[in-house]
Amino acid sequence: MKQLKGKSEVRYALWQAYNKKCAICGEPIGYTQLQIDHIIAESIEKDHNELYRVLKKYDLHKDFQLNSLYNLRPACGYCNREKSYYEAPEEITAKLLRKAKNKISDVNREIQKYLEESNYALKIETMRKAVKSGELKLEEYIDQVNNFVSDYGDEFVEYENEFTNFRSIKYNSVKLDGYLPRLNEPEGSCLFTFNSFYIRGMSITLTHNEILQTLFKGTKTPTDQLMRPYIVDKLSEDNYIIQLGSSRFNLSKDETMHLCEVVDRFISEYIVAIEKIEKVLTCKEFLPLSNDLTKYKLIKIHKKLWGLMLKFADEHDNYHGNGKWHIFDSSGRNIIKVYNNEPTPQYNSGFHCVIHSLVDSNDSWEPTEEVWLVWWDVEKNKNYGIRDYWTVEQTYHWLTNEFIPLVMYSYDSSLSRNKLGFKKGVSFDEYKELNTFNNLYFRNSNRYIDIYKTTRVNELIELVNSLQLYYSVTTETYLEKKAIDSIYDALIYILSISSDTDFYYICSKLNINQTSDINHLRTQVYRKKKNEKYGKVSGGVLDMLLRSISASIEYSQEIINPDEIKLITQYLEPMITDYNLNKLVSAYLTSKWMFL
Ligand SMILES: [Zn+2]
Repeated sequence: MKQLKGKSEVRYALWQAYNKKCAICGEPIGYTQLQIDHIIAESIEKDHNELYRVLKKYDLHKDFQLNSLYNLRPACGYCNREKSYYEAPEEITAKLLRKAKNKISDVNREIQKYLEESNYALKIETMRKAVKSGELKLEEYIDQVNNFVSDYGDEFVEYENEFTNFRSIKYNSVKLDGYLPRLNEPEGSCLFTFNSFYIRGMSITLTHNEILQTLFKGTKTPTDQLMRPYIVDKLSEDNYIIQLGSSRFNLSKDETMHLCEVVDRFISEYIVAIEKIEKVLTCKEFLPLSNDLTKYKLIKIHKKLWGLMLKFADEHDNYHGNGKWHIFDSSGRNIIKVYNNEPTPQYNSGFHCVIHSLVDSNDSWEPTEEVWLVWWDVEKNKNYGIRDYWTVEQTYHWLTNEFIPLVMYSYDSSLSRNKLGFKKGVSFDEYKELNTFNNLYFRNSNRYIDIYKTTRVNELIELVNSLQLYYSVTTETYLEKKAIDSIYDALIYILSISSDTDFYYICSKLNINQTSDINHLRTQVYRKKKNEKYGKVSGGVLDMLLRSISASIEYSQEIINPDEIKLITQYLEPMITDYNLNKLVSAYLTSKWMFL
């Protein structure tokens, strides 16, 4: 049987599947330096007893084929020569066998690609000869080449289990293989492959950040609006300039539409995957750390309070007492771990949360007296819930409703004086009743707008102001036409329930004729709405519209009732959805600088 490792497609595929790196030391290898070898030497095949012994040692099936992809690995010349590694050879062999098994589908895919490419080249060659001999006209040749630029078809493969979160999306000339974000591994990636005539077979990989930065904006917008960051320009009706990652290339109009279709399907799945994580961790009102997406900022507190919290945890170590509050594992500095050795009526056993502090020095050179407390997801594949590992929100509630009051109660010097005799001691519950604690912490909570939490006029004004602030710094936005209409409708509605308003301000913001007649004003706003023809609007337009809405609500705040608040919020809902999505995307962008 011909040696697999001698076949050029196998050589090439292994090299690709291992990312052009040595399977042993991980160093990059050039194709010409590449050495492919059997992991378990093929020579033992002749000696049946030895073969049986070796297969047993590595826990392999008796039908294991030594001359198969399961037993091949690429290596650099150095590793191939130096058979004495710092690890025991058996361990390396076992590791390489595992690696080979994991790479099988990648290797097969690369082999397939290689064979298709070769086939393509041969066809071109045959046709070129036919042109030369006059059997084929040049125009026919061009037509045929264009025609068999093969089509990937239209296919969506979803493959999800606890090990992978893989999507493969094919749409005519474009194919994407991607990994979606998931718990503990919030950063996905994707690989585009093109079947375009000009850039046939080209592959481009995008990282998590590149996906969020270039694929999200402009989703579902018409191609020729050029609102998608990866469509750089339109050269002619049928030629677009595309930039993905660091690659810039041209695509025809159809191919550009194929690309947009694939991107739209993938990015919507990608966002859903992040939303899923947020749902499980109940963390959408908290910000992940930009250098580690498995951690979330809870609250900012004074260093002294953090010191007291650590002291309390230290004094209530699980192993040094069995009182109700002995629920800490005080190993480790500057970290609080809530832990039960034995189950209690309140908590089952195990770790419930890990909180550490972070110096708040992002925007200041000044040393600060405050620290951020950070929720840390250290438990892999655990249930998130009150009786197991706590979600971000549960941890937040525990901290602010239980732990901080408890720490204050325990170290309140005025209380201990009382306890010494003059007055009867105050119980914890009474203490909680008597004091407020929310001035002890700061929380950054305007990342997500929850429309169901808007029930009062001041909350509605705050909501509109958050939107206004956001859209005032956005250059252009694409909302569906009816979403833009709906924003106008919010203003029209407020003007219809008010008898008076801030005429001067609204007219000048909306750039319409000054009037002091509310019906006239409403008619003018209505006309302005009719003039909005497309889904694409500049941030400036939304800015002025939202300022007018905010001003009109403020002017009429005495008369707006809860039902009307609900209705106004509903008019703004499409915009709030857009706002929340954009905030989500920016919250999950990472910036990985090295902290000195
Ligand atoms: Zn090596």
